[in-house]
Amino acid sequence: MLTISNLSVRYGAIEALRGISLHVGTGEVVALIGANGAGKTTAMRAISGLAPVTSGDISLDGRSLRGVRPHHCVRLGIGHAPEGRMVFGDQSVRDNLLLGAFTRKDRELEADIDGIFAVFPRLGERQHQLAGTMSGGEQQMLAIGRALMGRPKLLLLDEPSLGLAPLVVREVFAVIGRLKAQGMTILLVEQMANQALAIADRAYVIETGRLTLEGTGAELLADPRVQAAYLGA
Ligand code: ATP
Repeated sequence: MLTISNLSVRYGAIEALRGISLHVGTGEVVALIGANGAGKTTAMRAISGLAPVTSGDISLDGRSLRGVRPHHCVRLGIGHAPEGRMVFGDQSVRDNLLLGAFTRKDRELEADIDGIFAVFPRLGERQHQLAGTMSGGEQQMLAIGRALMGRPKLLLLDEPSLGLAPLVVREVFAVIGRLKAQGMTILLVEQMANQALAIADRAYVIETGRLTLEGTGAELLADPRVQAAYLGA
């Protein structure tokens, strides 16, 4: 579904991505793991049209996304739950969800909101609460729900566990597991390499803008280099 070929992104003198190539097949959960500053968020932002691509290509179902503006990427099927969640704090939970559907012209929004509330009951209970007053975990669920409201083909999850207590992290990964079981295609960026590799069909390791390892989640979990660098072994 998603193919990235030789992608480079440069911010002035900083080469954040140096020719990465990866793919995500339909229904796959693929993880991208790496240290701070390795380029994970930049890769997600490039897919969504938010980071400046210097060379290489990104395509979704064979259509190039290079040069495509962010709102059009949403229309083409990219759903992005960004690092730091970025919910609209002074808008209600329900309005945040509706904003996730801003590119849609159909009239099935209410049915989809009910579907989101079925996956995330807490969002239903709190639908009229201002998003900025929700807990970190609730805001993460909202960011994922908002991305789903665009009816994405591919869901980008950038550090969904960031800053959350261990129990809440477990809830977030349970939700990712449910989305996977429903057949959602997901690219997941995580520093919690353990959990990410456990849920991923396949994964890539990124170091200073380059992909250095790839394999199934199980292969990378068992790889001594991954254990030493990312799993605290
Ligand atoms: P983290 O886990 O800390 O979020 P990351 O792997 O997501 O890290 P990126 O945020 O993609 O890393 O950053 C990759 C490199 O690009 C870093 O050196 C960062 O400082 C730099 N960078 C990212 N965004 C910008 C920007 N807008 N302007 C200049 N440099 C940037």
